Parts: sequence; structure tokens; C-alpha cells
Amino acid sequence: MAYKITEDCISCGACESECPNAAISEGESTFVIDPNKCTECVGSNPSPKCAEVCPVGAPQPDPDHKETKEQLLEKWKKLHPGETPKV
Ligand code: SF4
Repeated sequence: MAYKITEDCISCGACESECPNAAISEGESTFVIDPNKCTECVGSNPSPKCAEVCPVGAPQPDPDHKETKEQLLEKWKKLHPGETPKV
């Protein structure tokens, strides 16, 4: 399941550089996550990095983008061709 950034976002930008998939960018009023790039950090980290660094808990699982761990890993492999998943 991809993560999304809720309206609680204060646009501090702490998450943007932490995403291993470059899925986070600055939107009009909050930062936003591209669901085509978010793997819930599967392949890179044991838990979602953006959620770890956010001071207000804005990144949350997005129920509109439900995916299995296998699907998330496939997405990661397409984003990181030739690399080996770290987790
Ligand atoms: Fe990026 Fe991980 Fe957050 Fe998804 S959960 S946006 S891959 S930092």
C-alpha cells in the first residue's frame, strides 16, 4: 500500500530527501507522494522513512492504493534496476 501525505502536513520538507524512491515532491499546499513510486519503503528500509522523520505524523497508508508486499517489491525492482533489495 502506498503512503499518502495527509492535510496535517506543515510543508517542512523533512521527508523529501529521506525517500529512497524519490517519490515525494512539493505540492501546492502540502508535500505529495507519487503512488507509482512509493513502495512503503519495501526494498529499502524496514519501515516507512517519511513517517519516521515527519514531526506531525502526516504520512499515512493510502487505502486507495492497496498492494501486497510482493507487488511493492516488484515496483521497487522496476525503480532500481540491477540493484538487490536491502530488506
Ligand atoms: Fe518514500 Fe518510503 Fe515514504 Fe513511500 S513510505 S513515500 S517509499 S519514504
